Amino acid sequence: MIPLNSSFPTDNHGWAELLPARRASSRLTGNHRVPWVVVGAGITGLACARRLAELHPDAEILLLDARCVGQAASGRNSGFVVATSQFPGGVVADQVENYRRVNRINQAGLELLSQQVEANTIDCQWQRQGFYHTAADSVALREHTHYLHYLDTLEIEHRVLDRAILSEHLGTEVYQAGIHIADGALMQPAALVRGLADSLPANVRLHEQSPVLGIGMGTPLTLSLDQAQVKTDRLVLATNYESGKLGFLQSYLVGSTLAGSFTRRLTPAELASLGSLEEWGAISLHGGGATVRLTRDHRISIRNTAEYHGSRLLSDSELLTRQAIHREAFDRRFPQLSEVPFEFAWSGVEGISRNGTNFFGRQHDNIYLAGGYNGSGVSRGTAFGTAIADYASGESSATVSDCLASAPARWMPPRPLLDIAAFFQVRSRFKGVGLDR
Ligand SMILES: Cc1cc2nc3c(=O)[nH]c(=O)nc-3n(C[C@H](O)[C@H](O)[C@H](O)COP(=O)(O)OP(=O)(O)OC[C@H]3O[C@@H](n4cnc5c(N)ncnc54)[C@H](O)[C@@H]3O)c2cc1C
Repeated sequence: MIPLNSSFPTDNHGWAELLPARRASSRLTGNHRVPWVVVGAGITGLACARRLAELHPDAEILLLDARCVGQAASGRNSGFVVATSQFPGGVVADQVENYRRVNRINQAGLELLSQQVEANTIDCQWQRQGFYHTAADSVALREHTHYLHYLDTLEIEHRVLDRAILSEHLGTEVYQAGIHIADGALMQPAALVRGLADSLPANVRLHEQSPVLGIGMGTPLTLSLDQAQVKTDRLVLATNYESGKLGFLQSYLVGSTLAGSFTRRLTPAELASLGSLEEWGAISLHGGGATVRLTRDHRISIRNTAEYHGSRLLSDSELLTRQAIHREAFDRRFPQLSEVPFEFAWSGVEGISRNGTNFFGRQHDNIYLAGGYNGSGVSRGTAFGTAIADYASGESSATVSDCLASAPARWMPPRPLLDIAAFFQVRSRFKGVGLDR
């Protein structure tokens, strides 16, 4: 683990490890006076900075990140750009409007990202052909029934798949049932955020490896960095589960650490054993189940661990122990590939709240925040980031209204009780996971 700064550690693992080296933008030094600062250059902060630049073409937008672009959750996720969220359990009649609201936000984010990828020719293995939701064991099979009812109720285009078709498409006999949702995209997350960062409008100035260490309240606000100070009129925090380090949401948002592995590139014969598709993604219908992908560069990735680990990445030795869990799940799905080694492993930290809600709005005079998407933040983070720029600029939109309607978060106790509660909350997601892990 590289101690970039004692509070913002990082490592070299993740989807970025599969890409060529990238030169980061410079650290911020000196004194600055700007109208707008966005802290956090993940998917939320990048979307926010882009939108602020459109709304205020003559203003300089300063975008700061503690790490390099691609090193946080936005560059380490599984690469599913979701249009339709899954809500576990049966359809609850008085929640149908809420399901629609969340899916409108997802859809708005997916459309924005699609446009940005296309307009800026971002090379990130973007493929908008939907993906699979799969069930191998009894709890997930129950969710399969619930999900079908939900999709029918909301009139969302999908296809029901049986074991034989799944085996033909994905090359595994493990799944008993599945659903293919027509809309949704797959991508290489580190390549996506790098591409978004490299195509920001000219009036956005990005500085990486520039942690904001404190915020002085007042007018203007004063941000303290190691070798810099910034005075600004307005501040947007896109700092996910690390917002607490700046004094916000400590009792509402924590990090859950997920880990996965990639195989080496498959040979043509190994690929042929996987069925008919060149590229696919499968999300388990069980919340603790694996996400599995055949990537465009012919690797299989499998992510099936999640734990409360103090909102930190796993060390190399910890990753190795999780890899045994990835291996077991991989061999069960693809016995024909049991000789294929894993080449990379990675972990990432997602922001979770106690009741699975998201955060959007004003936190303090001239301080706004968006984030915390409980494992589904690519499309949603894009929509939230764009909408928080509108909201902080005094603009209204349908997406702003949808984001503002997020349920209030439930309080979590302070540490050390928080650690215990978070440990059990994350662990509970594996109840009944069985063969879906
Ligand atoms: C393993 C894994 C798999 C996932 N799979 C999916 C998936 O397939 N689909 C999906 O939709 N979602 C997925 N997610 C969730 C998704 O990645 C996140 O919800 C989303 O990326 C959050 O984006 P963000 O910009 O809000 O936060 P982040 O990406 O966490 O970015 C926040 C940024 O703020 C910076 N920062 C924090 N504090 C400071 C500070 N004080 N000063 C300067 N910078 C600061 C951090 O360095 C970081 O770069 C997954 C997450 C993980 C970890």
